[in-house]
Amino acid sequence: MNDLTQERVCIHQVTLMQCDFQQSIECLARNGVYQTALWIDKLEEIGAVNAAKVLDDNGVSAVSICAGGSLSGRSVQQQKQAQDNNKRWLEHAATIGAPSMVTLTGGLDVGDTDIAGARDQAIEGLAALIPVAKSMGVKLALEPLHPMVCGFRSVISTLAEANDILDTLNDEIMGIALDSYALWWDPALAQEIQRAGSRIINFHVADWLSETRDIRLDRGMPGDGHINNREIRNWLETTGFNGPVEVEVFSKLDWWTREPDEVVKTVLSRSMQHL
Ligand code: ZN
Repeated sequence: MNDLTQERVCIHQVTLMQCDFQQSIECLARNGVYQTALWIDKLEEIGAVNAAKVLDDNGVSAVSICAGGSLSGRSVQQQKQAQDNNKRWLEHAATIGAPSMVTLTGGLDVGDTDIAGARDQAIEGLAALIPVAKSMGVKLALEPLHPMVCGFRSVISTLAEANDILDTLNDEIMGIALDSYALWWDPALAQEIQRAGSRIINFHVADWLSETRDIRLDRGMPGDGHINNREIRNWLETTGFNGPVEVEVFSKLDWWTREPDEVVKTVLSRSMQHL
């Protein structure tokens, strides 16, 4: 396996949550990082046309927008709202030239105990989104998330489930986002990466801290926890993957409180050591 080069390092905009849209892109560019994944809330604050200009002015490209989906709601009204939102987000991605939209299934409604029903609804919602994504030329990168966030973010938790869904929907506009933070614990990970092959179009990395203080917003910087991100990259590259390695650190209590330049410099040095 080759050493990671800086050109392949992508830093998700959400890793710099302390910045506004423009500040985050300028910070990446001045530190020599020219790929990002946009965070939908920041993008909608300034609008897709302005966002495209900021990216262009700084020579930064967006590999994806994060995160669309939330398709598992069971009322007709929720389903319509989800389709409307996703259509708008896909339009943003097309305006910006982002090749994919990271797509979460969504969790369960308040009080709902029917996880199988929520999963079925998510698949129906994905199927309905396929023609919209095709018309925009933006891929849907289905992202399984850690089981701890099953209740409110994603009713699918494993790469096997994502592979099964892609088998069912069987459309080339669908891909998979593999997030090491979400999947590192799974004993079937290497095998399911082989099964997924070229379906994996986005590779997100972070680290799992020993004593996590927040189930969603306390991700570690690569090198600070238990995930062997280099080994996972190796498994992925044996399938032919040679895309960006996307560092995505949600860190309300630590990295989001630091100077953004320090965060980016740390990501780059850790990438060379640990990714
Ligand atoms: Zn992710």
